[in-house]
Amino acid sequence: MDKWLLILLDGYIVWMITFFLLSFFLSSKRVFRMLLLLIFIYVIALGAKRLGLELSARILDYSLEYLPLMFVVILAPDIRKSFESAFVIDNKRDVATMGSTETKQHIVEAVSYLSSQNIGALITIEKHSSLDQYAERAIMMNSQVSKELLVNIFTPLTPLHDGAVIIRGDTIRCAGAYYVLSETNKYDKTMGSRHRAALGISEVSDSLTIVVSEETGTISIVIEGIMLKANDKEKIYEYLNMFMK
Ligand code: ATP
Ligand code: MG
Repeated sequence: MDKWLLILLDGYIVWMITFFLLSFFLSSKRVFRMLLLLIFIYVIALGAKRLGLELSARILDYSLEYLPLMFVVILAPDIRKSFESAFVIDNKRDVATMGSTETKQHIVEAVSYLSSQNIGALITIEKHSSLDQYAERAIMMNSQVSKELLVNIFTPLTPLHDGAVIIRGDTIRCAGAYYVLSETNKYDKTMGSRHRAALGISEVSDSLTIVVSEETGTISIVIEGIMLKANDKEKIYEYLNMFMK
């Protein structure tokens, strides 16, 4: 092969690895802190060796050998999440298809009806990040958004009511999607899995999620790791208008 082509390929692969490692280490504070700790121990070990502190150097060398393995075990959930978000960044679509005014109305009507009946619901609206990896593992639908269909999906004791609905543009892509739960303790520690799932997907994508609580009928809007209460139609419209532009 041409020499220049090889150099280009080499550079591209190095760039890909650097990009992946960077987005991996920067995606979670805990993973990042562990990395800093490893670097710190490594520097001290190096210093100890230089100064001829044999015992310390040997202990530090030992910990450097086993600590990475320990970290992988401790950080297993974070690592899974980091992989997920590193992967989702690659999934950005150039144009976001946002729903029509009519779709917005159907969503708001459905959500406020579900809330009035204390029926739990989880609806995610896509923006640039593709959520196909979740849709593909769920029940694919590709049906036009309507209040009636949304209410039907979340009606208890029906096959589709568990998990999340994913909406792209004017289409319900799927029902029964499962997300990785957020581990944040910014909010109530007793927060259940529906709300944690909404926070989870908002941390790894640029989507907006509406949660209706089954216990209280409360409606929450979740975006970029932030959860806001939206208990009247006007508020929901406001958030949707800001998001679906
Ligand atoms: P609620 O206020 O409605 O009770 P909650 O936040 O307390 O909500 P749970 O009571 O644990 O949450 O709600 C359980 C429901 O949340 C499940 O029946 C399922 O439909 C949904 N759910 C649980 N885990 C996930 C997940 N990982 N992804 C999507 N949906 C989930
Ligand atoms: Mg609950």
